[in-house]
Amino acid sequence: MKRALFFSLCTILLPLQAPAQNRQKQAEVKIQRTSLTKDQEIELGRQAAAGVEKQMEVLKNQELEAWLNRVGQQLARTPQANAYPYYFRLVNEDSINAFALPGGPMFVHTGLIKAADNEAEVVGVLAHEMSHVALRHSAAQIGKQQTWGTLFGVLGAAAGALTGGTNGCGALCQVAETGIGLGGTTVLMKFSRGFERDADLNGARMMAAAGYDPIQLAKFFEKLEAQAGAANEPKGLQMWLSSHPTSGSRVQYVSEDIRYYAKSSYNSSTGNFARVKQLVARIPPPKPKPAALLQAKQGNPRGGLPQDFADYQAAGFSIGYPSGWQAGQAQAGGSVYLTPQGGVTKSASGVELILGAMVDYYQPANGGVALDATTSELLQSLEKGDANLRAERSSRTEVGRKPALLTRVSTRTSLQNEPNQTIFLYTVAREAGLWYVVFAAPASRVNEYEPLFRTMAQTIQFPD
Ligand SMILES: [Zn+2]
Repeated sequence: MKRALFFSLCTILLPLQAPAQNRQKQAEVKIQRTSLTKDQEIELGRQAAAGVEKQMEVLKNQELEAWLNRVGQQLARTPQANAYPYYFRLVNEDSINAFALPGGPMFVHTGLIKAADNEAEVVGVLAHEMSHVALRHSAAQIGKQQTWGTLFGVLGAAAGALTGGTNGCGALCQVAETGIGLGGTTVLMKFSRGFERDADLNGARMMAAAGYDPIQLAKFFEKLEAQAGAANEPKGLQMWLSSHPTSGSRVQYVSEDIRYYAKSSYNSSTGNFARVKQLVARIPPPKPKPAALLQAKQGNPRGGLPQDFADYQAAGFSIGYPSGWQAGQAQAGGSVYLTPQGGVTKSASGVELILGAMVDYYQPANGGVALDATTSELLQSLEKGDANLRAERSSRTEVGRKPALLTRVSTRTSLQNEPNQTIFLYTVAREAGLWYVVFAAPASRVNEYEPLFRTMAQTIQFPD
């Protein structure tokens, strides 16, 4: 039972910055306590951040990075930040969002910069998100969120709690049904109203301690709330608002809190925000990343699939598979496996495919993707990594109405009684890389499975 293994809640009080005589009047902000140690929290966040970076385009722009780091670290140094090792990344994504992972990795969408009119508004969002970390809201939520284990199978393994559990999440974590993507949409957590209020108050105190006008935090949230439903509603706003629900006026309760602050004038600003907005406006749209394209998305199964087939629908492709099989990724952003029970085993390097299908993208060492040349390169790299691997000559075919190559490959698996394996490799040139699906079966059963593999290949579709 996941929940029993995880965290019981209790609370301790955050030190207040108000003068002593007012202490009983100022709202209390609580740090949630979980059985997760701070080190575990940091490790979970580190692994989750690696998953995010695989799926999203982290911007490499010295000027923007320097600006974000400067404003972020100003906040990180305040007592309200609770001494986590925060760091800040700007991601090329047009929706309104910023999210902080347990332990301190923080990702800011370019869409947030575009929606803000001044630096303090962005700082307010950072302070609010960092407060969710500082107050350990994410860590406290982990035990309550079923989605955490499916989003981050790797994290579950790190926590020693989720693999092999009653949810069937063994070597593979079921992701096909949940369809929750990191790519530009979710902040991972839906916080309670109580957590929201605490993040607002702690964030306002954090802003004030860093010299920024704390009311900007509440005003910006309310400004965004006011834009909901408007014709020019910013992209991703509904998702953002639903993950940060509020009861009552943020401006009102933050204003009440500010009355207790010792300081009343706030002058912090890098003075570079106009320039930052200019730079952000010039950034070209993000290129699709394989890890995002592999991620399952929600959708009804397509019509026209063979009877008793389920559908794995990802951003970059769809493929049907026998409904009794398991579909999922062994780790966030990794290959998609579609296998019957026992079709994969755990190996030293992760997961080994014994029987079934695996989908992924191969990115050529340099230059663009060309079907023939990149397929050859893929086969060479496979041969280099597997001394037993023999590839036959490729033949031309079509997959999802795209030109494709089919290559029959033989190799050996770690299976003791039946190590010889036959593989059918289909490759298609796509913008994000060479898309491929591997159908694999023990050599002695290949005649039994080849018709099924061909049927599955016929169900493959691409969105464009
Ligand atoms: Zn929030």
